[in-house]
Amino acid sequence: MFDCTGYASHAVDKPLSPLHFERRDPGPDDVQIDILYCGVCHSDLHMARNEWGVSTFPVVPGHEIVGRVSKVGANVTKFREGDLAGVGCMVDSCKSCASCQEGLEQYCEVAFTGTYNDPDKKTPGLRTYGGYSKAVVVDQSFVLRIPANLELAAVAPLLCAGITTYSPLRHWKVGPGTKVGVVGLGGLGHMAVKLAHAMGADVTLFTTSAGKVEDGKRLGAHHVVISKDADAMAGQASSFDLIIDAVGSAHDINAYLVLLKREATLVQVGAPEKPLDVAVFNLILARRNFAGSVIGGIAETQEMLDFCGEHGITADIEMIRMDQINEAYERMLKSDVKYRFVIDMATLEPASAA
Ligand code: NAP
Ligand code: ZN
Repeated sequence: MFDCTGYASHAVDKPLSPLHFERRDPGPDDVQIDILYCGVCHSDLHMARNEWGVSTFPVVPGHEIVGRVSKVGANVTKFREGDLAGVGCMVDSCKSCASCQEGLEQYCEVAFTGTYNDPDKKTPGLRTYGGYSKAVVVDQSFVLRIPANLELAAVAPLLCAGITTYSPLRHWKVGPGTKVGVVGLGGLGHMAVKLAHAMGADVTLFTTSAGKVEDGKRLGAHHVVISKDADAMAGQASSFDLIIDAVGSAHDINAYLVLLKREATLVQVGAPEKPLDVAVFNLILARRNFAGSVIGGIAETQEMLDFCGEHGITADIEMIRMDQINEAYERMLKSDVKYRFVIDMATLEPASAA
């Protein structure tokens, strides 16, 4: 075991603050990574404040990790010391259920091990702590290769926001000729816009923020609709093949279900703490689908990173210091993120931890 420094949520109503904790030493199949940058996902905020009722404190959030390999175990073939590497939302899974066998570890029937807030299966008694920290140790099969041509800090958000939107776009076979809607221009939403555009779809952004219209277009949306404008919404009725809803708080889902064509799908990736009200006739009368999707498998995450490398796609980021995280959370709650905060881990000094 070794001592690691990070930033943790210690209770629902307390700001995040420094924490010293222990990580396992790398085993034969493990890669140890010095963390350079970590993206700030809204899920980190949900977990830091126990909004989903599953947090075990202290929680060290962070599952959009990029860094440099500092140690490798004896069996590690995929990485060498000094390589760039990425880690997303999962660090392990059962590896034997049908989903894992199909490369869909995110749907592991036993449950995948989250990058934070889960028991560390490899070391009884230890828990997983995330990327708001100096280093992480991960089984090589859950470590991703980073395309060399992309700006490293702006790659970090691809590890969650990127794959969470790429996976449903691929699953529902988005391409030229498909009309895709994206709800909410935050971390996930802005990646959905960029990726759907790169896949050749006709992309419409739905935003509550009038100030994001120009950005939406710059990021790749062909059309932008202010979702508070009832007439503009009515003009979109029954026209979409796929809508990705990336809103993580209470909102009217029915306003979007009626925008789907017959048999089309609204996929919920945003994860509000309270149930959403579905007016079932919006589904019944046009055989529409209301679906969900969680991140993506490891092979698909690598495919997404390679796709982003080929198309020159990264997140639009605002770099912050580790000690600005609490302020960043408050701004995220006000939809004031352009369009992902990324923590420069060089600003987390080991000496600053209590
Ligand atoms: P984010 O950066 O905070 O973006 C959310 C966006 O939703 C906001 O920027 C805003 O965009 C819109 N919005 C916020 N409140 C709204 C409201 N009351 N009504 C309508 N729109 C609203 O969050 P994120 O990191 O993208 O995450 C979004 C959600 O996805 C979170 O719940 C997160 O936990 C979840 N998530 C799920 C997965 C998965 O695997 N399914 C993975 C990662 C994250 P506009 O200003 O454009 O309206
Ligand atoms: Zn996330």
